[in-house]
Amino acid sequence: MSRSRSMASLLILRIVLLAVGCMLVFGGSHAWWQYQQQRKEFKASVETLADTSLILLSNALWNIDMSIVRRQVQWLSKLPDVGYVRVRVEITGELIEGGFDLPAGQPALSMDIMPPQPSHIQIPLGQLEIWERSNHYQHVLRESTLPVLLGYALFTALICLMVAWVMRRELHQPLDQIARFAAGLKPNELSRPLILDRPRRRQQDEIDLVVQGFGQLQRDLRVHIEHLDLLVAQRTEQLEDLVDEVQRLSLTDALTGCYNRRALDQRLPAEIERCKRYGRFLSVIFVDVDRFKQVNDVHGHAAGDMVLKEVGLRCQEQLRSQVDWAVRYGGEEFLIVLPEARSAHARELAQRLGAHMRNQPIKIVDETLTVTVSLGVAQLMPMDSAQSLLARADAMLYEAKRSGRDCVCVAQSGDSQVGIIDDIGWS
Ligand code: GH3
Ligand code: MG
Ligand code: MG
Repeated sequence: MSRSRSMASLLILRIVLLAVGCMLVFGGSHAWWQYQQQRKEFKASVETLADTSLILLSNALWNIDMSIVRRQVQWLSKLPDVGYVRVRVEITGELIEGGFDLPAGQPALSMDIMPPQPSHIQIPLGQLEIWERSNHYQHVLRESTLPVLLGYALFTALICLMVAWVMRRELHQPLDQIARFAAGLKPNELSRPLILDRPRRRQQDEIDLVVQGFGQLQRDLRVHIEHLDLLVAQRTEQLEDLVDEVQRLSLTDALTGCYNRRALDQRLPAEIERCKRYGRFLSVIFVDVDRFKQVNDVHGHAAGDMVLKEVGLRCQEQLRSQVDWAVRYGGEEFLIVLPEARSAHARELAQRLGAHMRNQPIKIVDETLTVTVSLGVAQLMPMDSAQSLLARADAMLYEAKRSGRDCVCVAQSGDSQVGIIDDIGWS
């Protein structure tokens, strides 16, 4: 992650740089303006003095009184801001000078000393040259510009401090709070509002707009997640229904609606286990349609299917709901499982089913068929497994077939009782 830097400090740094730049431009302009002003003032004041001195110097040179010239030069050179004064006497070429600084460059003022009035001679008697003091302008600038610059610098520093304080309070702290809030927000905490720790104000600013936008985003996200949750719940429900349906189909025989062999393999061992553990009874009945092949051969496979469907239905009609269950064991063979039932009860049920099959012909399109079934009954023994129980019931079914079909055979403690279904009676 790249290093972060406070926006406020960056802004303050830029303001300081701008202020220093402005100070330099402003200070330079002010110094130049002062310099020009001082130059003008110096010239004006020295010219006034020189004008008055010229009359005196003119008379002194005319009278060749050099002592007066020297005194006047000394007096002029002692004036403030005057660095050096020189009078050049034209006739003798003598130089009368005075002052602290040696003259450097051109003089600030240079005037001819003409003969006094009313002389008609127009040849200058000499020349008066005045130089300003060398550090005069530096001094002036120091005196006038430095306080201005110092004042400006102080003012700028104060402004910067104020800006820094305002920025920290108005920008840095709220933005920092927003950043921390956003970083710490969890998907399950979207209803937690962003509340900034800052005084309330009458008008909104950009920070308030950001907070509002954030709140709106949270609300939208919450709605979106709720919608997704709802969608997931709906899909899950649909999926569960589908899974239930698939599971039901995977355990059901499509033609008859009875359980299939897979369901039998899953349920029967568990049912037997439960009955053994609690010492309960359990009986099974094998049901096989008699001479079913002929039905197919005579009436067609579709009619055979309709017969199988009807046999499955009649088997199921005999069941105690929620307790007994019927399985299409294969082909035209069904198995009825009767938990909590002794073989006597199973026998009764088998007889009832057999009688019902025999006495109620099955309607197939525009004809009716009388179909009979053979039934083998066995009751669960303590040492039985699912296989041994089914094998015993199957043996009873075989016995019923062997005995002429359309009858019930019941296995009892390894023995079997065979009876022809005759109404409800048992022979
Ligand atoms: P038995 O009295 O000895 O039981 O004679 P059966 O004709 O009923 O027995 P067999 O085993 O000889 O014939 C069973 C027939 O059942 C053979 C097969 O074509 C038929 N079958 C098996 N499954 C279906 C099915 O799903 N639909 C139809 N229509 N027929 C089937
Ligand atoms: Mg069979
Ligand atoms: Mg058969």
